[in-house]
Amino acid sequence: MHSLRNVLDQAQKNGVAVGHFNVADLVLLKAIFAAAQELKVPVIVGASEGERRFVGDRQIATLVRSLRDEFDFPIFLNADHTHSLAKAVEAAKAGFDSVVFDLSALPFEENVRQTKEAVQALKTINPAILVEGEIGDIGTGSEIHEAAPDLSKRLTNPAEAKRFVESTGIDILAPAVGNMHGMLESMVQGETKKHLDISRIAQIKSTVRLPLTLHGGSGTDDDDVRKAIAAGITIVHINTELRVAWRHALEEGLAKKANEVVPYKILPFAVESVKEVVLSRLRLFNGR
Ligand SMILES: [Zn+2]
Repeated sequence: MHSLRNVLDQAQKNGVAVGHFNVADLVLLKAIFAAAQELKVPVIVGASEGERRFVGDRQIATLVRSLRDEFDFPIFLNADHTHSLAKAVEAAKAGFDSVVFDLSALPFEENVRQTKEAVQALKTINPAILVEGEIGDIGTGSEIHEAAPDLSKRLTNPAEAKRFVESTGIDILAPAVGNMHGMLESMVQGETKKHLDISRIAQIKSTVRLPLTLHGGSGTDDDDVRKAIAAGITIVHINTELRVAWRHALEEGLAKKANEVVPYKILPFAVESVKEVVLSRLRLFNGR
């Protein structure tokens, strides 16, 4: 039996990180699974509230479970950025392995109170489910942004992180450490990179001693990612890079086969292109 908790424990011991990639269709799921299978490394598939609205909670849960069972492979499913208890409960009931319960936009005390309540409710449904909580501000939207938001004032403070973890009983913490959701056009072009506050990651890790998730990993400097993992990051989220590859390859596939209407003759272009991105990120996260 593959368990996400064991995979995270093992990753922490080995000083590597588990890649988390979002899905909104079968192209993305096929690409992510193919890359993880090729490298023989565990992987987490994520679906945000918007992505779940499109593919269906129970449908994506069934697909991911079918891959895990048929190939005896450590692939897991996370309910990414869930903003209400009702949506979190739906995901837990559908069979998700973990839930990111994200009330980071609320005042700290309210975030603590509601996250604690969610941890208890979700573990009643499935005692093995892992709950991730979030404090600080890492922006919203895994898309191309016109300008970088100023997130510097709401970086996660280690003492606050400790209090949040102790009062809520979460299994995983998502801190704000210079990361942000989405990418700027200059990052898509490879002209600029995101940079992380590595010493803050190390301080948070030494106070909370839980797996830490780096959200908004797309477009981050490779060397910063390596240092962040060494400092205590155990899960890295990549979404926008996959979306950019998906769109470009789809346009290319349609252009190359101008008269083609058979989806499975066009979509493999997108699968291959997204798979290349996932492969390069998984190699980085696993020190290969
Ligand atoms: Zn995120």
